[in-house]
Amino acid sequence: MNDRRLYVTYGGDARRMTLELMEAAHVADGIPAGASIALKPNLVVPSPADGGATTHPEIVEGAIEYLRAHGFRELSIMESSWVGARTEQAFSACGYRALSERCGVPLYDLKKDAARTVATPIGGMRVCARALDADYLITLPVLKGHCQTRVTCALKNSKGFLPDSEKRRFHALGLHRPIAALAVVRRPDLCIVDSICGDLNFEEGGTPVPTMRMFLGRDPVMVDAYGCRLMGIDPREVEYIGLAERWGAGRMEIAPEDVVSLRDPSHAPAFPKPSGLVSKLTRNVVQDSACSACYGNLVHALYRLRDLDPDFHERIFIGQGFKGKRFEGIGSGSCCGGASCPIPGCPPDADRILQALLDAK
Ligand code: SF4
Repeated sequence: MNDRRLYVTYGGDARRMTLELMEAAHVADGIPAGASIALKPNLVVPSPADGGATTHPEIVEGAIEYLRAHGFRELSIMESSWVGARTEQAFSACGYRALSERCGVPLYDLKKDAARTVATPIGGMRVCARALDADYLITLPVLKGHCQTRVTCALKNSKGFLPDSEKRRFHALGLHRPIAALAVVRRPDLCIVDSICGDLNFEEGGTPVPTMRMFLGRDPVMVDAYGCRLMGIDPREVEYIGLAERWGAGRMEIAPEDVVSLRDPSHAPAFPKPSGLVSKLTRNVVQDSACSACYGNLVHALYRLRDLDPDFHERIFIGQGFKGKRFEGIGSGSCCGGASCPIPGCPPDADRILQALLDAK
């Protein structure tokens, strides 16, 4: 398989599309015989794929079918949901427990896995052992919007290889540098992207957008750059993609001849222009090193608050940077326990935040 090729297909039958992509790219030719293969979907929250947050299980099923047909037997599915969510619950809610039983492929909750410290361009990082030890790693992200990094796709999906303590530390380090550094030490070997109905605003879903496509590539930097362009975002404006390129995890350049379209793109709906919704919702939020779940829940609460109280303009503080500080205002999450109006929880869920914001006025 050509390293610089990116295969794209369109439609709604995720299993068939996965098989089509893997066949076209001759994926099996690049996998060593007898390799242990880890499949890493995005199961950030326990919510089915039609909500726009998680990978369609049919894609993983198609990948298993392809790999089995080419003689690969040592397969596993692994993930660690975001801080505050239980991966086991996500496995059930997203259809992966049923898939595992049907296909005989084990599921591993990486929150329960041992972690090892590996050297990265920004220093030591704790990474789950199963992710480090797999011979061949297939990442299966959803192309989505993200309230802090604007986009999440292949590179950021690797955050599920971390124990929760390291996920929190990623946010304290500003997210971009650690995401790029992780790509250097545990670069996926193959990326199969679910862009069937990803949520273009919220990482945790809730407002899915049917875009009816999938794409496959070997270079996660190139794959993310392609995803950005689909979303109308210049990949050079997403710091972690540029850093990953600078540190040697891949290249964001895409020549027209690199993109192989397996079906007529006119059958797929166009990507809508970025709505800027998250920026509008968070214009009064002061954040410093907030974890994704914490920030995502706040954004969701603000989204619902729009209808209930359109005149809400209070400033809200959030993030690990406020730990131990005392200040006037609303503080979301236990890190902001020193606020005059604190919202407890680590992270607080959107219902609790919403109620607290309504009570705060
Ligand atoms: S309160 Fe929020 S920002 Fe602080 S550690 Fe918990 S989840 Fe992260």
